[in-house]
Amino acid sequence: MTSTSTLSGTVLHPGDPGYDTERRGFQAARAHRPDLVVVAADPADVRAAVIHARERGLDLAVQSSGHGLATPLDGGLLISTRRMRTVTVDPAARRARVEAGATWGDVVGAATQHGLAPLSGSSPGVGVVGYLLGGGFGLLGRTFGFAADQVGRVEGVTTSGEAVELDHLPTDGTVVTAVEIGLVELTEVWGGSLAVEVTPAVLDGWAAWSAALPEEVTTGISLVPFPDDPAMPPPFRGRHVAMITIAATVDVAGLVGPLRELGPVLHERLGWLPVAESHTIHHDPTEPEPYAGDARLLRTLDGDGLRAIPGLTGPSAPVPSVVEVRRLGGAYARGRTVPAAFREAGYLLRAITILDGPDEAAARALHRDLFRPFAADDLGRAWTFAYGLDAPN
Ligand SMILES: Cc1cc2nc3c(=O)[nH]c(=O)nc-3n(C[C@H](O)[C@H](O)[C@H](O)COP(=O)(O)OP(=O)(O)OC[C@H]3O[C@@H](n4cnc5c(N)ncnc54)[C@H](O)[C@@H]3O)c2cc1C
Repeated sequence: MTSTSTLSGTVLHPGDPGYDTERRGFQAARAHRPDLVVVAADPADVRAAVIHARERGLDLAVQSSGHGLATPLDGGLLISTRRMRTVTVDPAARRARVEAGATWGDVVGAATQHGLAPLSGSSPGVGVVGYLLGGGFGLLGRTFGFAADQVGRVEGVTTSGEAVELDHLPTDGTVVTAVEIGLVELTEVWGGSLAVEVTPAVLDGWAAWSAALPEEVTTGISLVPFPDDPAMPPPFRGRHVAMITIAATVDVAGLVGPLRELGPVLHERLGWLPVAESHTIHHDPTEPEPYAGDARLLRTLDGDGLRAIPGLTGPSAPVPSVVEVRRLGGAYARGRTVPAAFREAGYLLRAITILDGPDEAAARALHRDLFRPFAADDLGRAWTFAYGLDAPN
């Protein structure tokens, strides 16, 4: 390997110890199968890898956590950024420089030491760069807006192998090596989750409750089909559970009463949380899983389509699936660097099917059936949650 002979990182080929670990990520339904993996230690390694691929006409992909894998490489060169995780906080400027392989957990860990917080999402394991490239729908998105709007200087390597500094996220295949982001002053979040048993009207009820919320509150609702399996938590086992999530910058205990009327309450944990524990609000999975997902940005949320969702996706449906709705609006509507649809949408509706029985074709058919009734309100796909589908370029 000529151009990568001076790498600080590692080069792995099929059969090498560590090759399988490095090519795999959070998405367990598929994985890259490259001819070589460059485990980059620094931007110079990324540059050497890009030049190497270009000189030989190799397909190129970049992966950090693998949460957002679309089409896997078959041959070619994979750059793994997982060793590039340094986060440097400038507390006075309220900014952080984040290396390309860092996750939101890494940034939260560094920022909270200074009473600051990033605009992270529901899961600490998600990679910062992939999330930012999708706009970034954060835990407190209605209060602080899209994470992508906090991006300052971006360091990267263009497809021709040139090291560049940009003042925006790239859309041309440039590999990001580090990104500077703004942080907010925040030490605690008021929130958590409240779960009720699903009823046909639960989504209507949550939609009506969330419609008039102040910007200080971000909320979502997930309908989760729990198998009748002793490994499941006792209150949820075999049930269809509506998990309502709340994250706010003020105490909103006085607003949540109507949620307890939506159905039999199965669980409630609401109150002040340190920012470092705010990732517990959504109960996201932490171990790799095989999944397919799709998501739509909707102007409004009502109609027969909403009431059909529990029947289509519950524990006894042919393709049990998790459906989440997130309330948008608020500061999201003032987004600066995102597509117009992101600003105009009132809701994000998404479906995730765990492929531990249903195959991907069945999952895709269900997602189409689920989204079809919302066509008149549909502002387009939210690509960041369209797992296994290729984003348009
Ligand atoms: C459990 C879970 C929870 C999630 N929660 C949220 C949420 O709350 N809000 C939200 O907005 N999104 C959320 N997402 C979606 C997530 O933001 C996207 O899947 C994102 O693409 C993941 O980025 P990654 O780096 O972790 O994944 P990867 O699969 O490693 O990367 C995804 C893609 O990003 C691009 N990319 C990664 N690194 C670079 C780089 N250095 N340079 C150029 N391109 C790069 C590549 O195209 C890559 O294929 C969630 C996803 C999951 C699975």
